[in-house]
Amino acid sequence: MSHPTSFGAILACDAAQVSTVSDSADEVDFWDKPQEACGVFGAYAPSEDVAKLAYFGLFALQHRGQESAGIVTFEGTTLHSHKQMGLVSQVFNEEILDQLPGAIVVGHNRYSTTGSSKVCNAQPAILQTRLGALALAHNGNLVNALTLRDDLMAKEHATTTTTDSELIAIAMADAVNAGQSWCEAAITAFKQAQGAFSLVIGTPDGLIGARDPNGIRPLVIGTLKDPAQDGSIQYVLASETCALDILGATYLRDVAPGELVWITPEGLTSQLWAAQPEPKLCIFELIYFARPDSDFHGESLYTYRMRLGRQLAQEHPIEADLVMGVPDSGIPAAIGYAEVSGIAYMEGLIKNRYVGRTFIQPTQSMREDGIRMKLNPLRDVLTGKRVVVVDDSIVRGTTSRKLVSALRKAGAKEVHMRISSPPVTHPCFYGIDTDSQDQLVAANLTLPEIAEKIGVDSLGYLSIPGMLQAAQDDDRNFCNACFTGDYPVDVPEGLKRSKLKLEKVSH
Ligand code: SF4
Repeated sequence: MSHPTSFGAILACDAAQVSTVSDSADEVDFWDKPQEACGVFGAYAPSEDVAKLAYFGLFALQHRGQESAGIVTFEGTTLHSHKQMGLVSQVFNEEILDQLPGAIVVGHNRYSTTGSSKVCNAQPAILQTRLGALALAHNGNLVNALTLRDDLMAKEHATTTTTDSELIAIAMADAVNAGQSWCEAAITAFKQAQGAFSLVIGTPDGLIGARDPNGIRPLVIGTLKDPAQDGSIQYVLASETCALDILGATYLRDVAPGELVWITPEGLTSQLWAAQPEPKLCIFELIYFARPDSDFHGESLYTYRMRLGRQLAQEHPIEADLVMGVPDSGIPAAIGYAEVSGIAYMEGLIKNRYVGRTFIQPTQSMREDGIRMKLNPLRDVLTGKRVVVVDDSIVRGTTSRKLVSALRKAGAKEVHMRISSPPVTHPCFYGIDTDSQDQLVAANLTLPEIAEKIGVDSLGYLSIPGMLQAAQDDDRNFCNACFTGDYPVDVPEGLKRSKLKLEKVSH
């Protein structure tokens, strides 16, 4: 990912590169959902305009990161790069894309917290080696970034960013310079990294796609029809299948946990680099982060989320006049809930589709009303009605409270909230920006206390068995740590303390 590691203070950005978004800009927080950290994209497509492929791939993955975007292309041994703060559509135009020729491309969308809005942290990370340049795009988060940084600094390697992603690139470049091939060096670097990493790495000789041994973040492979019909092989790598769809690429398969794929003019080769891969895909990708039109395990997440809603209706029935979802991510589960409960599904909230991140502070009265920047309640639908509102998760509870208040102001007689995931009680260390545990409402209050805090007549969360049943799998294949605290990759004590409420150690 791209989260700055806490050694940021010792690492300097090139001042000339710092964008117009100031570090101190106070971004307006309209939504207390966890934030996805990154989208990655890569293609080996000699017959295509690879920069445009990356542009549209990243465009489809924009929901995974909105702070910066970058594309690097390889034209033989020449590397072309453009990275900047902003949305994909703001960072690139035809003229810029025309200056990024090549046969291989790597692209990245990044989300990061306020305070690290620096273009020097934008990816792909680029490093020079004895074999030429490498460009690395990372989704996930390393839990051993501090140790890895110390190890690399002990070898007198310098960093130019504050990201853990660059550390993987440095470790790989180090191994290349020590005489290893691209793939050997990548594996040497992966073995030093702990945590979540789905990676796309471009080199002058080929494209690498790889996932950590648990495959916590997704990565898929697609094939592109060759417009030249000359039999050349064209492959695409992307965080989600929605980025293949936009290009007309065909889904081939997922990169497996602990796998490395190497794509060259000779085709795609694969090796399992991890000794004991153990799939632990982030279940929050399915519940909320990934786009509903992306496929996971052979079906769209829209279908999966409808199933979550059906399960939720069985676990938490209620008498009501209408069921509505919180746009957009709560809608498929609300439709599933309505289907099983027999209560009519209606839209009670209309989303302002063009609201994004803004650094302009609203007026005090707008701030108090909060939710209306993003969602506007439909008075004539809601007046006098007993309403079931389905959302995908509650993090701090602040947005839910504003939402419920807005529904009541619009005339709802009763508001019953149903959540299509279990209570979020633990923070994420694997690339999702969740609050520390003391900010998570379900880690600190009982169910009746949460209901009172957000102002609902009743509240029901999906159970953990219900969530897994809807996934049509057992819990061996998912990371569920947000809901259970059962972290699949050990989190070092210091990092744990930064986000978890730990028992006081007795001396
Ligand atoms: S802790 Fe939660 S958000 Fe993080 S990887 Fe695990 S399930 Fe996903």
